[in-house]
Amino acid sequence: QKIAIAIDGFSSTGKSTLAKQLAKALNYKYIDTGAMYRAVTLFAMRNGFIAEGKDNLGALVKLLPTIRLNFVPNEELGFSEIYLNGENVENEIRTLQVSRFVSRVAELEQVRHKLVELQKAMGKEKGIVMDGRDIGTVVFPDAELKVFMTASTQARATRRYKELLDRGDNVSYEEVLENVQKRDFIDSNREFSPLRKADDAIEFDNSDMGLQEQFERLHSIALR
Ligand code: C5P
Repeated sequence: QKIAIAIDGFSSTGKSTLAKQLAKALNYKYIDTGAMYRAVTLFAMRNGFIAEGKDNLGALVKLLPTIRLNFVPNEELGFSEIYLNGENVENEIRTLQVSRFVSRVAELEQVRHKLVELQKAMGKEKGIVMDGRDIGTVVFPDAELKVFMTASTQARATRRYKELLDRGDNVSYEEVLENVQKRDFIDSNREFSPLRKADDAIEFDNSDMGLQEQFERLHSIALR
């Protein structure tokens, strides 16, 4: 049986949709590591440590030990929601505002260190499907199955734009596209564990592959 399945890739490639589906079919745990970086970012925003034009990331680093993150299963939704110091922030972390700052927070070595340790510990209990940027390279370098997802920038921005509109957020396609491009750039070029495909990862470009086909292919590989 597979123990860890790592799904990495650029922003809005549909990683989490695929990861959730796969976890459900295999009866594995699903962990969205992007939600963890987003929750730390929300914490920094609320405390005024990060804002347009002025940052105090040193203060964030100092308070890192006070940040508690938990995933709590929501039976109705069929997946776990993230809690920041006891508060359900699953909805609030998905705003474009959080997306604007998250890659800067995710660059910090101390933040990565804390979150990677938590992620490694989560993989100890049972089969796990984890999605993010450095799962196959850093968190679970020995994962039995690694997937690297890509898609055209336009396809990804359109997907994220629709998601934000569905939530009722007032955003333009252009600002979503700009955000996706900026995050890709920062995520790929940062000093600590930059986004890259693990040598042994299977690459999936889903610009022209449907979700069902991706799922079926991965599911059959996972069962081998
Ligand atoms: O997956 P999602 O788009 O929600 O991730 C938000 C951001 O969190 C990414 O753009 C990246 O900066 C950061 N991240 C990361 N490492 C991970 C997961 C997310 O740096 N494993």
